[in-house]
Amino acid sequence: MAETILKIENVCKHFGGVYAVDGVNMNIHEGGIWGLVGPNGSGKSTLFNTILGLHQPNSGDIYFKGQRTNKLSPHQIYDLGLVNAFQVPRLFPSMTVLDNMLVAARGQQGDGFFNSVFFREKWQKQEEELADEALDILELIELRKHISSLSGELSGGQRKLLEIGRGLMAKPKLLLLDEPAAGINPILGKRIFQKLQDLSHSGLTFLIVEHRLEILFEFASWIYVMDKGKTVAEGNPKDIVQEPAFYQAYLGK
Ligand code: ADP
Ligand code: MG
Repeated sequence: MAETILKIENVCKHFGGVYAVDGVNMNIHEGGIWGLVGPNGSGKSTLFNTILGLHQPNSGDIYFKGQRTNKLSPHQIYDLGLVNAFQVPRLFPSMTVLDNMLVAARGQQGDGFFNSVFFREKWQKQEEELADEALDILELIELRKHISSLSGELSGGQRKLLEIGRGLMAKPKLLLLDEPAAGINPILGKRIFQKLQDLSHSGLTFLIVEHRLEILFEFASWIYVMDKGKTVAEGNPKDIVQEPAFYQAYLGK
């Protein structure tokens, strides 16, 4: 049995009288694609923001690899390897695709005076390694032939892919994605999920909010259903579609 990477215990996040997240429980194991679905307003994005430390929960606890994170800053949580693809600094439209990838890498030496004079060789080697990594990821997300394009010239779908690529440059252990297939044609959407699934087999874990259930359910290993701030059902994609709570969430009372 794979180890737990993210444990969420009875987490609540209220905004005044709005119970956006109102008792969520999850137990996510290392590896695989974990889906989070639910109708609009059910609290998915608020839950993501709470996991990322952008909101403090009103109650409940969140553990990442056994460490309690709900008192940590977003930066500290990011440093543990819990990354949101859309949290990495925004795309720079007037920079090339490759440069956008390179600035998203973590732990760069930078090219300050000290580094450029005294550590030139080490620094150049690191730059080359990062560029190789970026090229591999760009190949994976089918943007390699666009490395010299300005990111502002990409289509909406390609920009989404580049955001995912930038998330991967941060070397996450758990990558959160909010609707990666939105605005992408279904065939490309499927190819992306296929690639995320391949990556997940090498130990990377994904937690993905996706409205296009037919794509998500083909590749996810486990689905959580949220409704009105609560996790109301969970199961593998085949079984979840048999759950009354799943239909109730989407069809209302
Ligand atoms: P989802 O992502 O599932 O569509 P959200 O988490 O965005 O749902 O929203 C859940 C509920 O919380 C909604 O009723 C929304 O209006 C409310 N909400 C979200 N963020 C805030 C906020 N910052 N302040 C007040 N209410 C919020
Ligand atoms: Mg949302």
